[in-house]
Amino acid sequence: GKSVRLDKLLANLGYGSRREIQGLARAGAVLLDGRPVGDAAGRIALEPGLPARMSIDGEPLDPLPGLALLLHKPLGVTCSHKEAGPLVYSLLPERWRRRDPALSTVGRLDKETSGLLLLTDDGALLHRIISPKAHVPKRYQVTLERPLKGDEETIFSSGTLMLEGEERPLLPARLEVHDATHAALTLTEGRYHQVRRMFAAIGNHVAALHRDKVGGLELPQDLEAGGYRIMGQSEIDAVF
Ligand code: URA
Repeated sequence: GKSVRLDKLLANLGYGSRREIQGLARAGAVLLDGRPVGDAAGRIALEPGLPARMSIDGEPLDPLPGLALLLHKPLGVTCSHKEAGPLVYSLLPERWRRRDPALSTVGRLDKETSGLLLLTDDGALLHRIISPKAHVPKRYQVTLERPLKGDEETIFSSGTLMLEGEERPLLPARLEVHDATHAALTLTEGRYHQVRRMFAAIGNHVAALHRDKVGGLELPQDLEAGGYRIMGQSEIDAVF
């Protein structure tokens, strides 16, 4: 299998510079199978069991590269460095923000949208989910300012709705009405502010927006806003 220099692996996981890591190892703070690794310049096999076998300053090694997270995005945090306000990355352990390859969000949610957000450092996984060809469905729970009129389901499923300033009609989207001001909208594409603009296009206004499903993966009920967990392979598979 693949092997890497230990100092490079730990530097890429955000533990410090290669020099600092060499210092940690010399000081006896890096253990493998309970025994100090005195020299971090050696190579180590990159196998899934490594984090459980290695500790740094008494803590298990962080997850290896190839990481996917499922996060319950709270309101008020942004997915983009271009927007004002705290970034979603501030919800993660500080060291994880220094990982290389970096964790990035799989698509974006607006600052004022809550719900299921995936993050990964795996470029291939990212592409598989966000590629326009993938059409991974995303479900949004929508609270509206004005009562639904009854024609929205037909309009959204028509595949003819045009958004302001765009040249291509929207793909058909599925609306499930819960009551006069609540509905679930499932999209298979992700245009800028799409849900808000769809309701604006038909004379309504989105008062609150929450994503609760990406592909076949639902936001876990027991994951509070601001919380996250590492995705297992079965959760990743559930997306597709
Ligand atoms: N549509 C929106 O308008 N906002 C989001 O955050 C996601 C989809």
